[in-house]
Amino acid sequence: MEYQEEALLEKLKTNFGYDSFRLDQQKIITNVLEKKDTLVIMPTGGGKSICYQLPALFFDGVTLVISPLIALMKDQVDSLRANGIPAMYYNSSQSKEDQDAVFNAVAERKIKLLYVAPESLPLLQNILNQTYISCIAIDEAHCISSWGHDFRPSYKQLAFLKKSLPEVPIVALTATADKATQEDIVEQLVITHATRFISSFNRANISLEVRPGNERIKQIINFIKRSPDEAGIIYCLSRKATEQLAKKLQEQNIDASAYHAGLSFEERAKTQEAFVKDDVQIICATIAFGMGIDKSNVRWVIHYNMPKNIEGYYQEIGRSGRDGLPAKALLFHSYADVIQLRQFIEGTSNKEVQEAKLDRMKQFAEATVCRRKILLSYFGELIEENCGNCDVCKNPPQFFDGTVIAQKALSAIFRLKGKEAMGTVIDVLRGAQNATVLDKNYNTLKTYGVGKDISWRDWQHYLVQLVNQGYCQIAFHLNNALQLTDFSKKVLFEGEKIQLTAPVEIKKEEKRIVAKTTKTVKKDSLFERLRALRYKIATEENIAAYLVFNDATLREIEKDRPLTDNEFLSISGVGQRKLEVYGGEFMEEIKNFLEEKKRGKKNTALETFKLYSQGLTIEEIAEARALKIPTIFSHLSKLYLEGKDINLDQFTSPETIKEVANAKKVLKNETALKPYFEFLGEKVPYEQIRVALTILQKKSI
Ligand code: ADP
Ligand code: ZN
Repeated sequence: MEYQEEALLEKLKTNFGYDSFRLDQQKIITNVLEKKDTLVIMPTGGGKSICYQLPALFFDGVTLVISPLIALMKDQVDSLRANGIPAMYYNSSQSKEDQDAVFNAVAERKIKLLYVAPESLPLLQNILNQTYISCIAIDEAHCISSWGHDFRPSYKQLAFLKKSLPEVPIVALTATADKATQEDIVEQLVITHATRFISSFNRANISLEVRPGNERIKQIINFIKRSPDEAGIIYCLSRKATEQLAKKLQEQNIDASAYHAGLSFEERAKTQEAFVKDDVQIICATIAFGMGIDKSNVRWVIHYNMPKNIEGYYQEIGRSGRDGLPAKALLFHSYADVIQLRQFIEGTSNKEVQEAKLDRMKQFAEATVCRRKILLSYFGELIEENCGNCDVCKNPPQFFDGTVIAQKALSAIFRLKGKEAMGTVIDVLRGAQNATVLDKNYNTLKTYGVGKDISWRDWQHYLVQLVNQGYCQIAFHLNNALQLTDFSKKVLFEGEKIQLTAPVEIKKEEKRIVAKTTKTVKKDSLFERLRALRYKIATEENIAAYLVFNDATLREIEKDRPLTDNEFLSISGVGQRKLEVYGGEFMEEIKNFLEEKKRGKKNTALETFKLYSQGLTIEEIAEARALKIPTIFSHLSKLYLEGKDINLDQFTSPETIKEVANAKKVLKNETALKPYFEFLGEKVPYEQIRVALTILQKKSI
């Protein structure tokens, strides 16, 4: 069968509301429609779903979608239905009637997509044949591989699909890039000949930032206050930390909830649903949270602690900005975290691999070159240009000659015989008078207090760099003591010069933040009103808010202000069904908004009148209202014409009125002021001309 581009685009618009395909979507869809097995590797948010959902519309039978997350199925089915596509899901917790309804719908060819967890496949025997099934999509396909980071034994049984349904094309989709996992997927699914589509992993809309982990809570609160009302996720290492952080944020009137595997199933489901529905703004979570989250308007992700590896980090930040709008990823980096992660790894079976991965993560966090380059190169993708959307690109580190600082630090480590961890080394450098220092007589060392002039935080910043540059090292097996390396000698005895970067100035930035947060959020902006309407509809229909329209679509509605069906349909994200079901209400809201704005304009004139009636001069009114004098005159003129009690004569003279009346005849009732100004020899001020014209107009009515 030939599938014309137009036919695909037509379905894309009618059923999904989009005008064009992204990335490889069209090629993938064509491949699937040709009934070829397909492997799709695309980052989270790339748009994998359409790759099997759109072909499903063309097939006679049903497309079976295998997904590991039961929690996600309802959302996906809701999302399809919102777009007018018949779909259902099947799971073992459904009633017998519901399950039978699924079988009937498939037999009668009433649905296009059926979602099911791999565990439930054996229960589908009576429909698992080539008459009913036209295509099989395997979502999160990396779960089949023990090389992947999320192996699920129940995926193993999927191997039988190709054997028992050889004619049915299989589409395996995942956001996990590495080569070993890819090979494993196609081998286990018996589709080694599959056409492979591997997209770029660059999520350019997510800005990347790493900050030192000092005063994290304060920094987080400032960050959130800067983007009020925006949904975000904060990842923490421990369950306890998620709860403590959520509590601290709540104390600041920030709408946050905790989520971790220690909560009951119901509690987790409830929190997750509240987040998806925009009922809760922020989730403080362990990494247990997120895989099941299909929420396109997550605007930021913060890592309270450093993740174990880049795969995890990348996947977690990828949960933001799925709608393609700008999103932020902020990672806090602290040495204490690295040490703790090291301890977790100690004693695990593949310790070396995990250590190497942690090292790469650490290098990313401490990078002084474009972070996106590092991230993408980790996934085997090389980019030439710096990204311009990471903190290093935006604020390139300033290097300075840090030789003296390095010499002081290394000689302190030398005097401490490589027995003390970073904290004590800094204490000695700064001449601290604490118990450890005094008990061990460190105050008698030659280097004691030589670094008083540098703050604790800055010392930490420099020492971390020295470790990274290999001039000293952390002995993880000896209580993290700082020790010298072979390189140290070069600095201490051979005069080697060292370049260090200056610590980031946090203070300056905080000032800016405060200035920004004092500005009130515009609750009555059109966007907020559209968002409130979306929330209302989502609650009524008991579906996630973004399923009505995602943020990108809402933004476009805000910008274009569509008032007719055709205008509404031209918005990206609006398909035929959404136009029919939601269009009316949204256009109504826009109309109301525009009318209120008009009325608002009228009110502004009345506001001027109020002050005028109180006896204020024109200048005083202008000042009180922060408006320009000509604006006040235009308000008064308008009200005067409407019959309000205003004495305009006081602002002009009978002579001027006569002159203007004369000019009016010559200028043939011109309405613009400039010709009068020129005609009258540029002697009569604009305000007086306006006033005179208004008086004349009133007389002629
Ligand atoms: P993935 O499964 O790869 O993480 P999704 O399929 O959930 O990604 O798609 C992410 C977001 O991008 C969704 O909001 C989806 O509607 C949107 N999207 C997908 N394809 C397009 C497209 N061609 N044009 C505009 N938006 C799209
Ligand atoms: Zn960059």
